[in-house]
Amino acid sequence: DVMREERMRYLTDERRIKAVTVCFTDLEGRLHMLDYDKKFLLSSADNLTFDGSSVRGFSVQAESDLRLAIDWSAFYWLPADIFGPGKVLVFGFVLNQDGSPYEADMRGRLHRYVNELYQRDGLTCNVAAEIEGFLFKGRNAEQRFRETGEFTMVSTGGYYHSLPGDPLRQFIDMAAEAQRAMGFENEKDHPEVAPSQFEMNYSYTEATIAADQILLYKLICRQVASKLDMTACFLPKPVTGVNGNGMHTNISLSRHGENLFYDANGPERLSELAWSFIDRILNSGQELCLILNSSVNAYRRLDPHFEAPNQIKASPTDRGSMIRIPIGNARSARIEVRSIAPDANPYMAIYALLRTGLEGPLPTTDVRNGTATLPDNIYDAITNFRQSTFLASILGEGVHSRFADLKTTVADRCPRKLGTLIKRAEVQFH
Ligand code: GLN
Ligand code: MG
Ligand code: MG
Ligand code: MG
Repeated sequence: DVMREERMRYLTDERRIKAVTVCFTDLEGRLHMLDYDKKFLLSSADNLTFDGSSVRGFSVQAESDLRLAIDWSAFYWLPADIFGPGKVLVFGFVLNQDGSPYEADMRGRLHRYVNELYQRDGLTCNVAAEIEGFLFKGRNAEQRFRETGEFTMVSTGGYYHSLPGDPLRQFIDMAAEAQRAMGFENEKDHPEVAPSQFEMNYSYTEATIAADQILLYKLICRQVASKLDMTACFLPKPVTGVNGNGMHTNISLSRHGENLFYDANGPERLSELAWSFIDRILNSGQELCLILNSSVNAYRRLDPHFEAPNQIKASPTDRGSMIRIPIGNARSARIEVRSIAPDANPYMAIYALLRTGLEGPLPTTDVRNGTATLPDNIYDAITNFRQSTFLASILGEGVHSRFADLKTTVADRCPRKLGTLIKRAEVQFH
């Protein structure tokens, strides 16, 4: 492994680095970090273990010791002005004791699947997420929210609005610089529709990297905000009466650089492959919903009055539809899945969308112009998810039932009758 040799030599020689942060995510997509002393890491890189029993959705006591294998291709310097000097981060794969892949490690699952597609068919999966967030006053805003049920916005501006010295603008500038420093190819960064809301867009990339970037984006935003004594919050619907936070996910497939979703003569200039991908996702829309919207709070966002989609259909214009087809050309043709919240597990969401789009059951009716809507509460979403034999087959029975159980436990902590007010108890910050 050339990359491994190279990176290990680099770490040995780079005297500014004293420790290495190794990252993985639990079944719900929360980032976990282990800081390894550099010397220890270099001497034990093939023998890293951790206790998986206290990670949500991971192993039960009997199988508690798990292994971590470093993915040397996913290695990042963290910008020193934000994170402090000499900080590097690398993603890892979670393995069983015998070295086989651990089934609840969704990053590994996604990585293996996209590699298989590439080896078998020369397919590359291109993904770009548009992650919205709110900026609130105080670095302890989330903790205060649990106590008082309220957030304080930092800015009153709306879409693209900005005034010099606006804290939101200052935050966006700093976060975008940090993203560039970490290899994101930023395209446009702007205040979003709701006051104090932001979105920073960057280029699409290969699926696993795109999912890693979702976690890095949130990490950078949180760190930058905290430096400015504010909080970057990715709760799907933190404030009632204004837009929530979406994570629209753009997807296309290519082969040898050719975009397979484009057809100049196809409907909406999309190819047959793109349309079958759309049909399969819409056909499984009810079942997929829990993976894409996996918190109680996410269902408060899915309201078309606030540009959030709850309709299972595809449309070039209607932002209330689960899939939108942006105006595209040979390079940019893609689909935009809109019904995803920023607190979904990005690896599981992208994995499920790709597999469903390529292998899911085809509909027998016209789903593109359908009138069905997504579940409006998590219990219905859990029921649909549990009933899905297709999702059980692609996730594996173990992960399928464990995820549903986990979500039921979380939902049960909230009042059963879901009103319009945001209940503090339901909130888990990602
Ligand atoms: N905030 C909206 C959502 O929840 C999207 C609004 C927009 O991007 N124009 O999906
Ligand atoms: Mg956008
Ligand atoms: Mg947006
Ligand atoms: Mg969008």
